[in-house]
Amino acid sequence: MQLTEQQHAIKDNVTKICQGFSDDYWANCERQEEFPEAFYQAMAEGGWLGITMPETYGGTNLGVTEAAIMMNTVARNGGAQAAASSIHINLFGPHPIVVFGTPEQKERWLTPLIAGKEKTCFGVTEPNAGLDTTSIETFAERTDGGYTVNGRKIWTSTAQEAHKIMLLTRTRKKDDCDKATEGLTLFYTDLDRNKVEVKRIPKMGRAAVESNAVFIDNLFIPEEDRVGEEGKGFTYLLHSLNPERILVGIEAVGIGQDALQRAATYARERVVFGRPIGQNQGIQHPLAEKWAYLESAYWMCLRAGALYDAGESCGAEANAAKFLGGRAGFEACTQAMLTHGGMGYAKEYHVERLMRESMIARLAPVSEQLVLSFIGERVLDLPKSY
Ligand SMILES: Cc1cc2nc3c(=O)[nH]c(=O)nc-3n(C[C@H](O)[C@H](O)[C@H](O)COP(=O)(O)OP(=O)(O)OC[C@H]3O[C@@H](n4cnc5c(N)ncnc54)[C@H](O)[C@@H]3O)c2cc1C
Repeated sequence: MQLTEQQHAIKDNVTKICQGFSDDYWANCERQEEFPEAFYQAMAEGGWLGITMPETYGGTNLGVTEAAIMMNTVARNGGAQAAASSIHINLFGPHPIVVFGTPEQKERWLTPLIAGKEKTCFGVTEPNAGLDTTSIETFAERTDGGYTVNGRKIWTSTAQEAHKIMLLTRTRKKDDCDKATEGLTLFYTDLDRNKVEVKRIPKMGRAAVESNAVFIDNLFIPEEDRVGEEGKGFTYLLHSLNPERILVGIEAVGIGQDALQRAATYARERVVFGRPIGQNQGIQHPLAEKWAYLESAYWMCLRAGALYDAGESCGAEANAAKFLGGRAGFEACTQAMLTHGGMGYAKEYHVERLMRESMIARLAPVSEQLVLSFIGERVLDLPKSY
């Protein structure tokens, strides 16, 4: 398996944009806790924010495979998760709109998103539900011409910046439904700050791109901001989740590849006991091993993307891609820190920043345990455990 000419071109062109943003730029965004607006705008101007979106609205209509190649490139050029998460919501978040939105909604929502004029965020996780998504409590009550929504979300990334929110709600209580996945309704609407309070969560890394606790208090959502039919939101959301797993997996691979490159450079240059430290197999072999893990995770991500793009079932592969990417990325970053010795702990070499950001893919958007539970149940036919 190898990349096509078009896929190589995507990689080359995105690399060129990324090279305009130095390590210092990313370190500064992190230090100032500042959204990487210049990078985001450069990607918008290059037409990359609509890579998976229909051409009618300014997109390129390419697959998740191409988006994965793009996001791997974005993550492996110094910007890590900060770069990736400033734009990746565009690639998977609005997918339910592409599939289930009306032509009017697509025009109204996708066009400004692709042009970089509007930003969005993804409000799914809740404090009292966690990974048990069907137990969310945010409730949308029918009112004249729409819905009144009350509830809480947590970890909503980019909600400080966003104009819009993709919001998962309940329109029927779980206890009143035959199946837990029923009674959930998806909206794409204005993030009206008079009705929604957004509070930044201090966190371990990726300070440039915030994640937030979100408090929704009597937010009115007009009927025309509902995606698809009432009560079917969970099914629609699945069109975001597998692409999201593939992209997060391959972004983690990119962060690991970046860290590995930096480690190899350091190991060639740093001389101790009269020779480059990279001449010691104790330094060399773990790095070579991480390269092998990163490569296998990379191709698993592209395999999952190819299945998704072919309209085939890809749940196990997308989960495996996220799992392998998260592990391989994190382990490569950790090894890169160890290779740098004490300097691994210094901000100057950037590997500690990469390591902190690589941790995210092990925790989100789904945990390692839940990935393994899914594979255990669906692939190995073992009893359901969650
Ligand atoms: C940096 C960051 C950004 C995020 N951005 C967003 C965002 O933009 N939008 C959004 O909606 N969410 C976002 N999230 C949330 C993320 O998707 C959740 O944190 C993740 O899904 C895990 O949910 P939780 O934290 O509630 O864990 P919990 O559900 O509380 O689980 C805690 C631990 O228990 C384990 N566990 C629970 N039940 C079982 C079981 N049955 N078997 C085995 N293990 C189990 C889990 O695997 C996990 O390790 C983000 C999270 C982070 C860290």
